[in-house]
Amino acid sequence: MPDHSLAPYACDPARSRGRRYPEPPAPTRTEYQRDRDRIVHSTAFRRLVYKTQVFLNHEGDLFRTRLTHSLEVAQLGRSIARSLRLNEDLVEAICLAHDLGHTPFGHAGQDMLNDCMADSGGFEHNLQSLRVVDQLEERYPQYDGINLSFETREGILKHCSRRNAELLEAREPGGVGQRFLMGQQPSLEAQLCNLADEIAYNAHDIDDGVRSGLITLEQLRDVPLFERYRAQAAAEYPQLLQTANRRRLLAEAIRRMLSDQVYDVIDATRAALAQHAPTDVDAVRALPVLVGFSSEMRAQSRQLKGFLFHELYRHPQVMQTTERARQVVHELFAIYFDEPQQMRAAQAAAALQGDAQRRARTVADFIGGMTDRYAAREHERLTGQRLLG
Ligand code: MG
Repeated sequence: MPDHSLAPYACDPARSRGRRYPEPPAPTRTEYQRDRDRIVHSTAFRRLVYKTQVFLNHEGDLFRTRLTHSLEVAQLGRSIARSLRLNEDLVEAICLAHDLGHTPFGHAGQDMLNDCMADSGGFEHNLQSLRVVDQLEERYPQYDGINLSFETREGILKHCSRRNAELLEAREPGGVGQRFLMGQQPSLEAQLCNLADEIAYNAHDIDDGVRSGLITLEQLRDVPLFERYRAQAAAEYPQLLQTANRRRLLAEAIRRMLSDQVYDVIDATRAALAQHAPTDVDAVRALPVLVGFSSEMRAQSRQLKGFLFHELYRHPQVMQTTERARQVVHELFAIYFDEPQQMRAAQAAAALQGDAQRRARTVADFIGGMTDRYAAREHERLTGQRLLG
């Protein structure tokens, strides 16, 4: 039965394009609730707790990890979805799964693994997230992966190169690769997850950055989007300016920034929906991206992103760990490629069976699935060098 609480342009589980391996409906849950539950029970999801966002997992217990980041993305996504009458369960499923393909050590790990795989098809974390849910999870007797619905998989594959889209299309005609070849958008739910991701990391990277001491509230005065809320909070609660209250000041400014960004997305997206008036999900796919900020907020958010890039992600202290993380991934790749028996038995057997490309992909999947600390320990076991942790 169609769900009348949803807007006509929302994804309705009763009209899902289905799963790669058809399954009878669950008695008490919709298809997207079921996807969300499968993601939460996956091995890759549990590993997110020990994977880096910006700070390496061992650098402090209170910094975001990929797991807490994913939960924050899901919180923001759901709250916006409800206001727009989009499908909250689908948004939650996509948000919780969006980083499943991330390597250890954040972007440093992904970039190095991509370099190592240059002659073997490359390594891209969005495509890897899809690979995790389609192939790498080993939980069902009948198939590889966790057999998610089309709409959740569509949302997980946020970006895709043309070459990879062609490979996907050859394997699964009319599947999740097709939109990249046709220049189409994904569902509004998927569009929303992309924006919720950006809102979440901009906010929590300020929080982690200031609490780590790598950036200061004084530096943030140059960032209008943040400074406005800091000034508002301080004017309303002057006691927040006392040194002992700096943490509350930071939290209050970030809270206000998050709320304003959420309301901005809701207003701007409602206006875009009113203008384009899509009648259903397929109409959405043929239109430009509709979920977004107003143009002022987009410009300010971009500026904040630029600040974080230069002042935090490129901070000398972050760069130093980044260099070590790159070395760990590079050396692990070389060792496993030359001596597959150093991997776990299943990966060793798979790597020894195939050609060089297949071997490289097996090694990349193995390293990609590692937590930060497992990768650091493996590196120490194999080289005798302790570079991290
Ligand atoms: Mg993310």
